[in-house]
Amino acid sequence: MKLASLEPVPKTFSFENIIKKSLKPNVRRIDLDGFYPESFLREYGAAGAYRPVSTPGQLGKAIENCSLAGQVCGSTAFSIWCHNTCLWYLSNTENFYLRDRYLENVADATQLGATGLSNPVKSFFGIEKIKLHGEKTSSGYRVKGSLPWVSNLLEGHVFGGIFKTSERHVFALFDTNDPNVRLSPAGPFAALEGTATNAVRFLDAEIPEEMILASDAKAFLGKVKAGFILLQLGIGLGLMEGAINDMRIANKRLLHTNLYLPEGPDVFADQLAELKQRTMDLSIDPIASAEDNDQFLKVLRLRLDAAEITRKTTYSSFLHQGSSGYLERGSGQRRVREGMFFDILSPSVKHLYQWIDSIN
Ligand SMILES: Cc1cc2nc3c(=O)[nH]c(=O)nc-3n(C[C@H](O)[C@H](O)[C@H](O)COP(=O)(O)OP(=O)(O)OC[C@H]3O[C@@H](n4cnc5c(N)ncnc54)[C@H](O)[C@@H]3O)c2cc1C
Repeated sequence: MKLASLEPVPKTFSFENIIKKSLKPNVRRIDLDGFYPESFLREYGAAGAYRPVSTPGQLGKAIENCSLAGQVCGSTAFSIWCHNTCLWYLSNTENFYLRDRYLENVADATQLGATGLSNPVKSFFGIEKIKLHGEKTSSGYRVKGSLPWVSNLLEGHVFGGIFKTSERHVFALFDTNDPNVRLSPAGPFAALEGTATNAVRFLDAEIPEEMILASDAKAFLGKVKAGFILLQLGIGLGLMEGAINDMRIANKRLLHTNLYLPEGPDVFADQLAELKQRTMDLSIDPIASAEDNDQFLKVLRLRLDAAEITRKTTYSSFLHQGSSGYLERGSGQRRVREGMFFDILSPSVKHLYQWIDSIN
């Protein structure tokens, strides 16, 4: 008998099955008790859900995998986005030490990652002041300051962030194992409690040169900004798909009254299909979508349209469900709250209007 025949038959799996088995049963705990679904995030990554982020030409597939989770739990789709974005930085850095050390482990989620870019990006638009400052040392940088919110972040995670020196902005990968990088829980929030969202304080943390993703953060951002935003579509598209499914379920019971609502599931399904197509088109070459001004404008408009349509879809789904959607366990009000976060996740709706205005 050949040895190979004694090996266990590989289990057939699908991303949908993993979500059904390991995420769906925990949605209420995630939403109401702040349960962080770490084991699901790792299992989904081990099955290959995040790897397309680091595979050229596959960003659209990564967005799709995120949206599959988002249909069930918008909060967890956001955690996936945080992780995927960290992987996106590693996929684009020219620091080969960092790629060798982290890329594979983040791609399969044996190492979990996050991103802390909302403050520096807002600072580039004069919305707020930069919060992390660095001083050059002989071996790297000494960083101090604090960020109010970084999600998907526990001890042992890494995250991408930007600090300012006297000369420039520097993009680094921070390791929360560093005793001078301290976490404290943020919130409580209206939703997103199960996303391990922490405030991060840097107490003169020594960041060695080898942890620098890019010594010119603005130039690096110019390359990764479209991928950063496009990956967020996984959250919105997932929320919409879940909300449309809920409308169809509600209509089995309540069509006699729901049919008076001005827009039903078919209308939203058409809008969702159009957003998906635009997302896939712009994700084919996310670097070109960042570096070409017209393409990047399309990315910003897509993100803005997705926020507006997600808001309408989730609210309409809540209206379709009626009182059952208003119950504490009701998915209607939960998706509305999760959708509100999609409106304020950087770049928030108001920031998107400002960004589009600055390009026009
Ligand atoms: C649950 C949650 C998780 C998040 N996770 C992350 C993450 O993982 N990574 C990340 O980088 N960001 C994260 N953020 C931040 C997020 O991406 C947005 O940047 C944030 O929601 C604010 O965006 P905004 O454009 O609405 O700005 P605003 O809230 O309008 O803030 C603009 C500026 O105004 C200041 N401001 C607000 N209120 C006042 C006031 N009363 N008086 C004076 N100044 C004020 C703010 O401090 C800020 O400087 C998270 C936020 C939340 C709520």
